[in-house]
Amino acid sequence: MAEKDEYLKERKIPTPNEDSKYLLEVGGLCPLCGKKLLGEKNSETVKLYQIAHIYPNSPLDIEKEILKDVERLGNDSESFENKIALCKECHGIYDYHKTREEYLRILNIKKDLLKSYETKTMLSNQVIEDDISDVINALVNIKGDVIELEINALKISKKIDNTNLLLKHKVEMYVSQYFLFIQAQFKALNSQGKMNFDVVASQIKTAFLQAEKKTNDKKDIFNHLTKWLQSKTHNSTIEACEAIVSFFVQDCEVFREIAE
Ligand SMILES: [Zn+2]
Repeated sequence: MAEKDEYLKERKIPTPNEDSKYLLEVGGLCPLCGKKLLGEKNSETVKLYQIAHIYPNSPLDIEKEILKDVERLGNDSESFENKIALCKECHGIYDYHKTREEYLRILNIKKDLLKSYETKTMLSNQVIEDDISDVINALVNIKGDVIELEINALKISKKIDNTNLLLKHKVEMYVSQYFLFIQAQFKALNSQGKMNFDVVASQIKTAFLQAEKKTNDKKDIFNHLTKWLQSKTHNSTIEACEAIVSFFVQDCEVFREIAE
């Protein structure tokens, strides 16, 4: 007789609060196909998703065989870590004739989601001077031409290599267009005594170090810092926050120089 698998526990139906936690985790979209998980009918919200077990709750013998020795998340099959919100269609396809590849794909998506949540939560406690909103607002309302930074002054290629080409080009664009403008805003606030630039720079650096503890992916770090900044400031836009984070890449608070 086969040994009892202690990971498998009796099926637990998620409470409405847990249910929302799963929905929030995937940002309201199916992590496999991108479809919306909430619909609307006669001005009522319709649930278009189900909470799927990543490792099956009661695996068939064939599934036990296919999933032999795979990594499993959480303490048991009913842990938050072993479940994920999927649209009904993807859930159906996933549960029918499961393959090891599908399992590993969903497992990795869930691991990324968990990591991303931890980074977000950690950053939410990191403060940033309120007055940075003034710089962001100046950027949001920018009109006319700006003085560009000379290309040879860019330090980006020392921080982001060609494996992240899209990110590198994005940051280069923001730095060449807006570095001098942002620098002038910071200088003005600093000299008016409204802001201590060194404090802001060290807060950004701390946020970067915290994010870096959770992930080495520069794209993820950049996105986390941008969203964090946006959540902490008023009337900001994602583009303005990207420009500010890019400023601090050039100014050396964000990302390390790549060793030659
Ligand atoms: Zn789907």
